Amino acid sequence: MTKKPFFITTPIYYVNDAPHLGSAYTTIAADVLSRHYRGQNTPVLFVTGTDEHGKKIADSAAAKNQKEHIFVDAVSKQFKATWAALNIHYDTFIRTTDEVHIKNVQNQFELLKEKDLLYKGTYEGLYCVSCEEYKQPDDLMEGGLCLIHRRKVEEIKENVWFFKLSGFATTLKKLIEEGTLVIEPERRRNETLGWLKEGLRDLAVSRSKVKWGIPLPWDKAQTIYVWADALLNYHTARAQAWPPDVQIIGKDILRFHAIIWPALLLGLGLNLPKKIFAHGFFTVAGHKMTKTLKNVVDPVALCKKYGVDTLRYFLLREFPFGDDGDFSEEKLQQRYKNDLQHDLGNLVQRVLTMEEKYTVKIEPGIAPRCAQAELHTERLEFDKALIEIWNLVRGANELIDREKPWVLSQTDPHKLATVLKTLHRMLETIGAGLEPYLPETASRIKALLAGGRSAEPLFPPLK
Ligand SMILES: [Zn+2]
Repeated sequence: MTKKPFFITTPIYYVNDAPHLGSAYTTIAADVLSRHYRGQNTPVLFVTGTDEHGKKIADSAAAKNQKEHIFVDAVSKQFKATWAALNIHYDTFIRTTDEVHIKNVQNQFELLKEKDLLYKGTYEGLYCVSCEEYKQPDDLMEGGLCLIHRRKVEEIKENVWFFKLSGFATTLKKLIEEGTLVIEPERRRNETLGWLKEGLRDLAVSRSKVKWGIPLPWDKAQTIYVWADALLNYHTARAQAWPPDVQIIGKDILRFHAIIWPALLLGLGLNLPKKIFAHGFFTVAGHKMTKTLKNVVDPVALCKKYGVDTLRYFLLREFPFGDDGDFSEEKLQQRYKNDLQHDLGNLVQRVLTMEEKYTVKIEPGIAPRCAQAELHTERLEFDKALIEIWNLVRGANELIDREKPWVLSQTDPHKLATVLKTLHRMLETIGAGLEPYLPETASRIKALLAGGRSAEPLFPPLK
């Protein structure tokens, strides 16, 4: 029997907006995890994509005087180009306008109906178009504004289909408490259990007024709620890998992923994902990233300026993945100068120069792996994994300072060879450890260690 692939997902990104640093953050993390498992010879299914239905998309297309499908094609393409620029190697890119996805969503809805989990009713209440979500009065801030979007919610009344979500609260609570469904970090698990304790309301899963969506197969005047449509992308992408091993999301969409998604799966009789991990958000130089503040950071521009590995390193090194943190170009430059250029770049330079100068020939070997870093990576403790690797980098620099190979070359050539061999092996370990995080740098280190020479330093001075 072939091994089930390790199945990793990112959310599919809503195409009303170009990719920004937040979506890059999630996707880089998923890429690191999948490169790690591929490096262990574990087959991987890494799925990302774009979420392309809903009123907000139709509005955005209309604002640009475009047909919806033209609009979504263009933005979806932009996401793919961004992931290519960020050196992200996914296996499957799902678009919710793909024919195969539309069919799958309709099939799963037929199944929910057969299982008597859907009924038609009247929804009367408040709706935030930006969230694509119904709101309760206590979800709003003063003046009836959406907490997230600070815009007025709409009052609507419509006949729609409901999913019997309320019936799943007890089962979900049990599955989370016993650890069948792992939600990390701990505070996100507690947040989810808090919602379940309050009880769940049935969920309106179709819309009578939204035209840009997947029609309900038995009631074609209705389209399927964009979140139900979007969540099912993970199932469309499943291949032979079901269930997902890790689903990485941002903390703002926890409720959809930790409540609605597993309830839909339970309803469909499918296994639940093993783990849902909700990462934190960052501010930009202390401010929330918003279009109004014009401080939305373009990840591709940063890659062009500092190199793709610098961005990957900074985002995962700067603060723990589950926490909130801050991004600024100044901090990124500091990391570049201190960690990449000074610590790592110099180390590689020093070791290779000495090997050449003292004509010590070292055969490529099997370097020990940095097991502690690998363990942190599997726990999505990316900052800790990088700290482990940098302990090795600093340790190697200290070894050079302590043993002074330039003195040994005069006094003890035998010891000189041993020291250089140790450093060479350390660099092999460092290079292998960096592969998931800084793939370009890792492959350059590997080529240099194998005897390839390059005039260009690994991390040139910033212009
Ligand atoms: Zn909203």
